[in-house]
Order: sequence, then structure tokens, then C-alpha cells
Amino acid sequence: MRKILKCRECGAYTLSQKCAKCGGAAGTSAPPKYSSEDKWAAYRRRYRFPEGNASAS
Ligand SMILES: [Zn+2]
Repeated sequence: MRKILKCRECGAYTLSQKCAKCGGAAGTSAPPKYSSEDKWAAYRRRYRFPEGNASAS
């Protein structure tokens, strides 16, 4: 299975690492790692399950 790459110069999709349109460098169009998302997920988890359940008392 071929990876679809995206030109970083003009944004065109290409199958080679060199853009056929402008000759710019193309890379994977995969989004960056969701490190920030994970960070916020941790915050959400803390909100949903706070330490010391208030409703228990
Ligand atoms: Zn290009």
C-alpha cells in the first residue's frame, strides 16, 4: 500500500517524496501526535473523577 504524501510547499498530494508540481519536498500528511489532546484528556479525567468523591460524603 502506497503512502500518500503531501507537498509542504504547495500542498499538492503526491506519491513521491518530491512534488511533481513544484518540486518541493513532500511528507506524510499524517497529523502530529495528539500529545496536547492526551494532556487535555487527563484534565478531563480529573474533572470527571476528582480525587475524594464529594458525593460520597
Ligand atoms: Zn508542491
